[in-house]
Parts: sequence; structure tokens; C-alpha cells
Amino acid sequence: MSDAMDWQADVGRDLMQSTGARLALLVRGEGASVWDADGKRYLDFLAGIAVNSLGHAHPVFVDAVATQAATLSHVSNYFATPPQLALAARLKRLAGTGPEGRVYFGNSGAEANEAAFKLARLHGGAERPRILALRDAFHGRTMGTLALTGKPYMQEPFQPMPAGVEHIDSTVEALEAALDDRVAALFVEPIKGEAGVVDLPDGFLQAARELTARHGALLIVDEIQTGAGRTGEWFAFQRAGITPDAITVAKGIGGGFPIGALITFGAASGLFYPGTHGSTFGGNPLGTAVADAVLTEIEDAGLVENAAVRGEQIRAAVAALGSDLVAECRGAGLLIGVGLRHPVAPAVVAAAQEHGLIVNAANDTTIRIAPPLTIGDVEVDEFAEAFGKALATVTDALLLENTPQTSEASA
Ligand SMILES: *Cc1c(COP(=O)(O)O)cnc(C)c1O
Repeated sequence: MSDAMDWQADVGRDLMQSTGARLALLVRGEGASVWDADGKRYLDFLAGIAVNSLGHAHPVFVDAVATQAATLSHVSNYFATPPQLALAARLKRLAGTGPEGRVYFGNSGAEANEAAFKLARLHGGAERPRILALRDAFHGRTMGTLALTGKPYMQEPFQPMPAGVEHIDSTVEALEAALDDRVAALFVEPIKGEAGVVDLPDGFLQAARELTARHGALLIVDEIQTGAGRTGEWFAFQRAGITPDAITVAKGIGGGFPIGALITFGAASGLFYPGTHGSTFGGNPLGTAVADAVLTEIEDAGLVENAAVRGEQIRAAVAALGSDLVAECRGAGLLIGVGLRHPVAPAVVAAAQEHGLIVNAANDTTIRIAPPLTIGDVEVDEFAEAFGKALATVTDALLLENTPQTSEASA
């Protein structure tokens, strides 16, 4: 094992430099806490980007991994297994698909969205070559999902993209202008997490449902970040009272075990036929047993309701800090974007880390907060204290910087 001081050098030498700098070397977690190699404890209000629904090392998670690993971990999709069938039935019930719904299992969000992309093509055929997605939405990093991701700077080094995807603004007018009978599917991220936890306008999902239905296009909702109870509903689309044709899930459903799924409703459930898609690992008994246990615990412990309640507490706590730096809170439940008045989110994240709090800069002006769904009063209070200190540190630095220009110093 390398010396704790050398880990940055190891990262620089051995890991593909496809992502930015690593913020710490973490060695252990429990509940909403993680510890680095020097023994420093952090309150984890990012949860591996909305993944660790039950926090770290939850007994239900640990037991599910250990028990299933000691029973049957992988068999390939030539065989069915009880955990796979149990999870599929549970996801159908939670998503409200009714009996005709179906579930395809992959191992990540991108794989779930790749399956959804192929579903859209099967539906569209030659008559419907167009696929719509929202500008700024994030759907993944593989070639297909990168084509869906509405961020030109991410696509640019990898052109040409798979064909047919067009990006539109998140407005009802843009939907009306774009939809016609040549559209196979519309992809929607119901709260744009990577874009800075940006909410859709009121009525957008309802209009999307109505217009896609009118033109015979599929409505596919990407619930990879918003699903598994995080927003205070099992899935964010449920707040809009609509029924999509498909949703994709990953992140929080596995609670830290890699798994993703495409869940279809109604006629879309009949589009895939034998030989059209598959994955060696997808839906294996280990991953599905863990996800089924995680979702069972979310249900039994009332964590969807907890997400709604704690989310309101966090918003109130942020407001009570009275920081001039904070403009607004966006998002729902325990997916919160704190919008800042200055592009200093990375500095706030660094200051928070100094004060023992892990949060994330979704972009230069947004702090993303996505703690485990298990948090209680104690964690909310601890968060507020550390976040207040971090905001104060950065506000002081800004004031110093702006001292010569007297007028705007504390805007
Ligand atoms: C994280 C995310 C993805 C991609 O999931 P991966 O598991 O990283 O492939 C897709 N869509 C949304 C909305 C996400 O937040």
C-alpha cells in the first residue's frame, strides 16, 4: 500500500486522466460519514453523486452483498434468478407500470440510456429518424448517450455523434415547435442534475406527454439521478401526474452497487424482441439482490418521506444562514442545487472540505447537495454549521478581492 502522502502521485501516474483531480483519498465510510487516509472525518452530503441512498456500510446493504455473494452471484442471462424477478416486479410496482410493464437490466446509467436509445430506434424505424433531447441535459458519456447529452463541449472531441438527435430548449414552445410525426422519442431529465440541479418549467412534463402522445413519439424520462426516492417521490415524473413510455434508473437504486435499468410502460414494453439487446453482467443475482434489498429498506424505513422532510429542513437551514452569496435553492427533496451569486462554487466546495463537509460544484455557480436518504436532524445541523463556515470563508475572500472596487464588494 502506498504512503498516504503519495496518493496524488499515484493518481497522476496510474489512472487515466479522463476526469479532474481527486479531492481526497477515502478509505472508509459509515452512515453519512467518510474518512480519509489521514483519519479525517467528513460529512458526506454528495453520497457518491446521489448513489449511496442508505449511506455507507448500511447493515442491509452489507448483508445483501455478503448473503447473495455466498449464494449465487452471476449466471448470465441464459438463466433467470429469484432476485432478478423480485427486483423487476418491485420496480414495476414502484414506477406504476401496471402488469404490462417490463424491465431491462444493465450496470450503469449510461447502459440504461443506451437501451432506451435502442428502444427509441425500434419504435421509430425508418419513418421516425428524429430523437429529441433537452439542451443542457445529461444522459451519459458513452457514444450513444453522449449524443443524447445536450452539452456541445462534451461532444466536440468525439464527433461524429450517432445521428438523429436534436436538442431543444426546456420550454413548452420549443416542444410545440419541434414535435412532429417523424420524432421517435423525446428524452427528458426531470431535474437537470449535472446542469446545476435545474428544474423544468411548471407544466413542461404534462405538455411533453400530451405532444408526444399526439405525434406517436415515446416519452422517455431519465430518472437516473432523481429516482429511488431522492426527490421525495419514488420517481420525479410522478409529481407531474403523467405516465411516460419508459424511464431509466441507476445511481440510487443500487445504493453503491453498480446497476441500471430501463423500465417500460404499455406498448413500449413490446418493442424489444429476442436478440435485440443484452449485457453479460446486467441483472445478475448479486446486483439485483442488493438493489432489491436497498429499495426494500427505502420503503420499510419511510425514506422517501424522509427525503421530502429533510430536504425542506436543508433549504430552511441554508436560508437561515443568511449568506449574501446564496441566491436560491433549486431541485426537490434531497437533490438540491444552491445557486450562488458569484462563480465561486469550486471555492465553496474546497472550503467545505476543509470544514469536514463533502458537497459538489455542479457548475461554477451551483453547489449540489445529495446526501444519503437516511439523514436525520443531527446531520442537517452538522451540515448547516459546516456549510455556513464554508460560505463565510469564501465571502471573506471575495470581499478582500473586491476591496478596491467599493461599490459591488458585497453584492
Ligand atoms: C449519472 C447520470 C447518467 C449516467 O449514469 P452513469 O452511471 O454515470 O453512466 C445519466 N443520466 C443522468 C440524469 C445522470 O445523472
